[in-house]
This record gives sequence, C-alpha cells and structure tokens, in this order.
Amino acid sequence: MSTYLDETIPVDDRIEVPLRIVKRIGNHYERLEGGCIVSRYAPNKNGYRSVQFWSGGRKVQVLVHRLAYACLYGPIPSGMTVDHLCFTPGCFNQDHLRLLTPSENSRNRRPKAS
Ligand SMILES: [Zn+2]
Repeated sequence: MSTYLDETIPVDDRIEVPLRIVKRIGNHYERLEGGCIVSRYAPNKNGYRSVQFWSGGRKVQVLVHRLAYACLYGPIPSGMTVDHLCFTPGCFNQDHLRLLTPSENSRNRRPKAS
C-alpha cells in the first residue's frame, strides 16, 4: 500500500525528492531575525545547504533552497537559478527566494557598502 510519504516533489527536470526527505528538512532549521529560515545542514563552500538521499540505487543531492522553492511554486525550469533576495545562502524561507536566469544572477551580487 502506498502512502503520501511515497510521493515525490519534482524539483527540476532531473531530481524528484521523496516527501519523507522534505519532512526531514522541515525538522532541522532555525529562524533568524529578518525572517530567514536557515537549514542546520552543513554548508558547502558557497554557504548553500544540501540534503542527500538514495533513489533507485543512486545517491542524489539536492540544494535545500531549490527544494523549498519547488515545494511552493512547482518545478524549476531547466537552466534557471533560485536566488536569495536576503543574501543568506542557507536560508530556505520561500518568501526570500526568486527565480533568475544564470545571467541575471551573475549581475545581482550583494551590493557593496558605500
Ligand atoms: Zn532569508
């Protein structure tokens, strides 16, 4: 018998994430002032958090903020980037995320303090 926990969330055209993994992410975060919701998973060198799971004998790694975006807004179109409006790479507050093309994203670095 299948349950809702056997269902998957499509993140993009390559990755589908089981709901049990989505639930795990929802249990490991902290809220910061300013509304950021930061994953407690270890950051990579860019500060992004990712989660790994096994699917069909293959280890799959997905960035937490991309998964959070896809949960609310649907799958991320091929080639698109999920950008942080808050400049906090570990944040997965869906209100702080938006979709950008890669060229838009490279033009949109954190403004320098003047
Ligand atoms: Zn944030």
